[in-house]
Amino acid sequence: MKHVSNNPAFERFAFDNTYARELEGFYVPWKAAQVARPRLVKFNRELAEELGLDAGALDSEEGARIFAGNETPEGAVPLAQAYAGHQFGGFVPQLGDGRALLLGEVIDRNGRRRDIQLKGSGPTPFSRAGDGRAALGPVLREYLIGEAMHALGIPTTRALAAVVTGEPVFREVALPGAVLTRVAASHIRVGTFQLFAARGEQAKIGRLADYVIDRHYPELKGQANPYLGLLERVGDRQAALIASWMHVGFIHGVMNTDNMAISGETIDYGPCAFMDHYDPATVFSSIDTQGRYAYANQPRIAQWNLARLAETLLPLIDADGNRAIARATEVVNAFPEQYERHWLKGMRAKLGLVSQEEADLNFATGFLTAMEGKKVDYTLAFRYLADAALGQEETIRALFADPSAYDLWSGHWRARLSRDAVAPSVRAQAMRRANPAFIPRNHRVEEALSAAVEEGDYTPFETLLDILSRPFDDQPEFAAFAEPPPEGRGCYQTFCGT
Ligand code: AMP
Ligand code: MG
Repeated sequence: MKHVSNNPAFERFAFDNTYARELEGFYVPWKAAQVARPRLVKFNRELAEELGLDAGALDSEEGARIFAGNETPEGAVPLAQAYAGHQFGGFVPQLGDGRALLLGEVIDRNGRRRDIQLKGSGPTPFSRAGDGRAALGPVLREYLIGEAMHALGIPTTRALAAVVTGEPVFREVALPGAVLTRVAASHIRVGTFQLFAARGEQAKIGRLADYVIDRHYPELKGQANPYLGLLERVGDRQAALIASWMHVGFIHGVMNTDNMAISGETIDYGPCAFMDHYDPATVFSSIDTQGRYAYANQPRIAQWNLARLAETLLPLIDADGNRAIARATEVVNAFPEQYERHWLKGMRAKLGLVSQEEADLNFATGFLTAMEGKKVDYTLAFRYLADAALGQEETIRALFADPSAYDLWSGHWRARLSRDAVAPSVRAQAMRRANPAFIPRNHRVEEALSAAVEEGDYTPFETLLDILSRPFDDQPEFAAFAEPPPEGRGCYQTFCGT
């Protein structure tokens, strides 16, 4: 039934808020802070259309008010979600949305339920010492990298809008304040389960698990043990997700259990960054002094996080404690194998292998080993492999100061390729769809953000966003954006996006 209203903002969003309705006690209803002069600096029209929104109407001053939190659209039930989490291995019993508000859920054009959330919309009861705000730089960073991940085909939250507030936020210095509108399959995290498990609120874990099964894993309904199934399915999606991060050299940087979404999407782009030269120990985050979340540790950490989820589900998995532990342990122990399967599938595509051979895992690691310790750019090496598959090896060999390790490997590789009946041009084309030319290079991201933040010049941001929306195309006019930073600018450091 269609409603009629004189309010032009009516039905801007066809909200249907199951989280607010079904999970009372899992959140605090809250209102966004009013900001001085909201101005829309970026609006994602394509995503708005996918969400079934009126992009033209929202790309406006009204949109700026809505996406700043100054105006609550009809049907929204703004709320701050409660959660806990392990941060760098230490349990924090109460986190929650300290600077974010869920406006509500919409059903997109593909029938998928999506959360619409404001990030940076002011303090909430969960803010602890924080100010509830976000600075423009980190907001644009999340926008850019999230959209780049989406274009790379990696499950991720999306960015719908970025608004400047016209107010400063105070970090070490005063910075322009901003609000990001984030779209997610949901914002339920491992930490959401942990909050209620830590309080011994078992009935709530059951409600949450049932809600998650309904929303994300409906195929589990009616199974003999849907909660064990839930653990398996979350584990499998995480395994696939981390494998896809590893394929593109993405380092999340803060894989705390509150930043691990149950849906299997990448969430919370704070100190994340992409690796330039291949080094498994790469860490960018200034606060990750122990390298807990280093590139090569990501699969292990995902498994560790899965074990924390498993602990919260034990009483649902089996009334007999020992049996529950045995069954959950089996699932958690299966993670490395699951991960390896996803990783190898993607690596076969990256290496241009079509059939499956026993030794392919060694092949894949062999290429990485050939790169290790030699400052070889990870992204370019894979991209140039497509040329090598056509017999043109100059570009890839030039990445190595001493190509002997590559030459040794590539001899075996070519022999392996010859056992797959695929035309070289077809193979090279497929490899270019698996190995991006463009990733968000750290120095380019910084250039784009500082132009926007310091000079109000959004041209570099827009250009970079455009390039990154087609990462698998050559885009010769932007060849410079495929390059790693000039020598001597390799010591990149990121800071938590607060
Ligand atoms: P993160 O590790 O960035 O995902 O954030 C961890 C927790 O800190 C979450 O509960 C956030 O809501 C909260 N938080 C981060 N920054 C702020 C801020 N500026 N004000 C209030 N809470 C914050
Ligand atoms: Mg977080």
